[in-house]
Amino acid sequence: MARITVVGSINMDLVVRAPRFAQPGETIAGDTFFAVSGGKGANQAVAAQRLGGQVTLVGAVGEDGFGTSMAQGLADEGIDLHHLDVRGGHVSGVALITVNDQGENTIIVVSGANATLTTDDVHTAREAIVSAEVLVLQLEIPLDVVQLAAALGHDAGRIVVLNAAPAMLLPAALLPLVDYLVVNETELFAVAGTGGRDHATAVGALRARGAGAIVVTLGSAGARLIDRDGHVTFLPAYTVDVVDTTAAGDAFVGALAIALAEGLPPVEALRRGNGAGALAVTLAGAQPSLPSRQQLDAWLHAHA
Ligand code: ADP
Repeated sequence: MARITVVGSINMDLVVRAPRFAQPGETIAGDTFFAVSGGKGANQAVAAQRLGGQVTLVGAVGEDGFGTSMAQGLADEGIDLHHLDVRGGHVSGVALITVNDQGENTIIVVSGANATLTTDDVHTAREAIVSAEVLVLQLEIPLDVVQLAAALGHDAGRIVVLNAAPAMLLPAALLPLVDYLVVNETELFAVAGTGGRDHATAVGALRARGAGAIVVTLGSAGARLIDRDGHVTFLPAYTVDVVDTTAAGDAFVGALAIALAEGLPPVEALRRGNGAGALAVTLAGAQPSLPSRQQLDAWLHAHA
């Protein structure tokens, strides 16, 4: 079974639907409320586990009910939680999300326990990082933690996948440690820091800074792979009825990581990413919408 280690965030998404956003000082009635496990690290761990991997998640939750229920949910998926720490005196990461009748949202993230991850935690989890086929990272935890994990994975010859989300400029030392940089269009321009909206310029800047392969996800358009040698492959997205695009990127990254861990060619990994992303947008919510191996294989078979 393909082994994947994810070092990343675990958040509880608290989602309110209301006719409109409340103004400062105002109280309005909302329509619905639900709480659902999220966080890019946890979502990508669940995505990869459901797609047939054996996933270890390195992360932290707070000493609260959210932490307990999120850890239980991850355990129920079969994810190895030996390196999931409960941080006494800290709250779990939460994302406070309001969605209005126009489908627009506002999101406030309190990183809580995620922000307490340290390089010591990475050293403690060293064995899990260097023994996995693929290491998956995002940017919802401190950058020095991401940097050290990438260095350990890289030095051990593992495949290092960095989903540079949320978008930010990266330290110069990080990109050369990354085998697959996965970004959506917004993240591409922010991470490249080139300004403008020209893909080729942004990709060129990232390659000049030592990035390996670059995968740009293009939402309903599909995804593009720029391999280590600069060779470009575009794969169009699958056509689906869109219900909720939350976690499309996380499904994509999970599927890409598993495919790479199983030794599939990068373009095939991209195709599986497109399939998982398409399936994820057909259902509501983050983790509830992440497809199983069986669902993805059946989908790809039907759409070959
Ligand atoms: P993010 O969710 O990180 O912003 P994208 O919106 O680019 O990332 O979506 C990630 C991937 O999910 C896309 O590359 C594509 O494969 C798939 N996807 C996203 N939106 C759609 C859609 N409307 N129809 C089909 N596939 C989609």
